[in-house]
Amino acid sequence: VLRLEDVWKAFDEHTVLQGIDLAVAPGEVVALIGASGSGKSTLLRTVNLLEPVDDGRIWLGEMDISDPAVDVDAVRARIGVVFQQYNLFPHLTVQDNITLALRHVHKYSKTRADAAATVLLERVGLAAKARDHPDRLSGGQQQRVAIARAVATEPDLLLLDEITSALDPELVGDVLDLVRALADDGMTIVMATHEMAFARDVADRVLFLDAGRILESGTPAEVFGAPREERTREFLTRFT
Ligand code: ATP
Ligand code: MG
Repeated sequence: VLRLEDVWKAFDEHTVLQGIDLAVAPGEVVALIGASGSGKSTLLRTVNLLEPVDDGRIWLGEMDISDPAVDVDAVRARIGVVFQQYNLFPHLTVQDNITLALRHVHKYSKTRADAAATVLLERVGLAAKARDHPDRLSGGQQQRVAIARAVATEPDLLLLDEITSALDPELVGDVLDLVRALADDGMTIVMATHEMAFARDVADRVLFLDAGRILESGTPAEVFGAPREERTREFLTRFT
């Protein structure tokens, strides 16, 4: 689904990604862990074309999306994204937040888009909130709507960047349950997370990023249970 080949990215003289190689298979769930500033968000942002790379290539399926001439909208139509801060459109209802991309990017009719939104809102347990505006929802509910919106278009890939870190602890569980359900359904997911227990539970593979390099990669049992690198061990004792 996704392949990064020797991806480099610097901001001014500060090199943030230093030769990232990564291949994500269909249905795979990959968790990015690592200290603040290690490059997790930057990595996700290069995939969604929010940051151009300085060197290396990124493939989404057969498409070289690091090619500067790539059709950015076409790439983004194939990728669902959810960030830390719920970025719902405040002036639209929950329902219209979900139908917007379906109608404008995927050219669904209003009837078809509304029907799809209804199914999704049922699925995330928020059918009763369809007519409300986002500010009437809790943070956890907003994040579930953001996830529903991200998967509405049946993307090839879902990118999640610390989607629970702005939430009150009691709201985290429902959001993580939803991600787990999507993973069980076969969605391909790359997620940056500080929720180590969750990463251990749902990820097929865990990557430890350190100063813009993938220092260690393996199954959750390998990385959490028997980290090979001293830096990984240090990080894990601080975060678990
Ligand atoms: P966190 O766990 O805090 O979210 P992260 O692993 O996601 O951290 P990034 O956000 O990818 O880290 O940032 C990596 C480095 O790149 C940081 O040193 C950050 O200051 C720098 N950086 C990120 N975006 C920019 C930008 N637009 N301009 C300049 N520097 C940036
Ligand atoms: Mg980040």
